[in-house]
Amino acid sequence: MKNAKLLLLSCCAPCSYAVIEYLRNQTRNFVVLFYNPNIMPEQEYEKRKQENKKICAKFNIRFIDLDYDNARWLGAVAGLENEPERGERCKKCFSLRLEKAAFYAKENGFDILTSTLGVSRHKNLDDVNKIAAEIAAKYNIVYDGTNWRKGGLEERRRQLIKEENIYKQTYCGCKFSIDNFNNAK
Ligand code: SF4
Repeated sequence: MKNAKLLLLSCCAPCSYAVIEYLRNQTRNFVVLFYNPNIMPEQEYEKRKQENKKICAKFNIRFIDLDYDNARWLGAVAGLENEPERGERCKKCFSLRLEKAAFYAKENGFDILTSTLGVSRHKNLDDVNKIAAEIAAKYNIVYDGTNWRKGGLEERRRQLIKEENIYKQTYCGCKFSIDNFNNAK
């Protein structure tokens, strides 16, 4: 499957940098998709997007930028505002982003979809993989649920963030996670 066309849904630069570098070194045929309407406020969304774009440019990897349909995202998580991180709101958030990515993959001839949504230790990789596998089956594509923290990639991620001064956000993305962060201070 080395020459299969792979779509990498990226949540942000710090989570995807080491993965992009790894896939590049493996000479995989892949492109990066940025679809994160969960990120608030919009200036923060732009900042994370630009940082991710910069990394793709460094490796000469195509960066696909989809809409910032934040109103749609807010509608999808309505009623789940007070859920904790790793709870039902996050599952809905993963689902919305993965569904869009799978649709894009199918429409554009990709064979495999993967994502960095479970890279952060604050996220539940099993939830991401379960939701992604169901969505991928619906679109008749393969979801690669590799644990991108393993194989030295977590260490490499930390190293790259430090050495290259990558912008590293202090909260997951949505406004509810900003509140979580502030309350935990
Ligand atoms: S905490 Fe993160 S994963 Fe959970 S809903 Fe908010 S942005 Fe999405």
